[in-house]
Amino acid sequence: LFAGPSEFVKGVVAMSGLPPADRVEVCFAGRSNVGKSSLINALTGTKGLARASNTPGRTQEINFFTQGPDLYLVDLPGYGYANAPLKVVEKWQKLLKQYLSGRQTLRRAFVLIDARHGVKSVDDEIMKLLDSSAVTFQCVLTKADKVKAVDRDKVLAQVRGALAKHPAAYPEIVLTSSEKGDGIATLRAIINSLL
Ligand code: GDP
Repeated sequence: LFAGPSEFVKGVVAMSGLPPADRVEVCFAGRSNVGKSSLINALTGTKGLARASNTPGRTQEINFFTQGPDLYLVDLPGYGYANAPLKVVEKWQKLLKQYLSGRQTLRRAFVLIDARHGVKSVDDEIMKLLDSSAVTFQCVLTKADKVKAVDRDKVLAQVRGALAKHPAAYPEIVLTSSEKGDGIATLRAIINSLL
């Protein structure tokens, strides 16, 4: 795995558009601007693969990428837009709920948290949804290069506290920097171990 480039398969706006559930799948969730596109691009070594979640028209799609013949990487829409219309938010939540609770091949969700900010209430909502969907999730701290060690430890403690409230949380937190490459190999290894 992660030996060759990833390819974009499709952007999905309704359950009927999902590709066949014929491979293992992991998904990535996070607030808009958390660094989700950068992480997916770093992970796959494919520049420009995932685009920023604020790209017009792509904000509400669940985007599927292949990695090798046996894996889908799934980019969930970024959440937490302050000015997103309620109708859009509701539509997105419905699709997300359906996807998370109905996808047999989904092995793990990675919830991305900005290493400077820790878990916010919108992140907590997603974690609750993952709990109720029985999808094991793991926290990935992003932009680790932007925090000093002492601040990072505070955030780690906050994240650990937040995870303790979620039965679906996997305890290991992965610290990453897409910019510097920190944690990328670790995350690849974790994904590999799910196959
Ligand atoms: P998305 O909206 O979650 O897909 O976020 P992006 O991947 O588009 O990243 C949002 C912003 O954060 C961009 O300006 C990125 O260059 C920056 N960024 C993402 N990852 C890192 C990182 O690891 N380190 C630093 N310093 N900046 C990052």
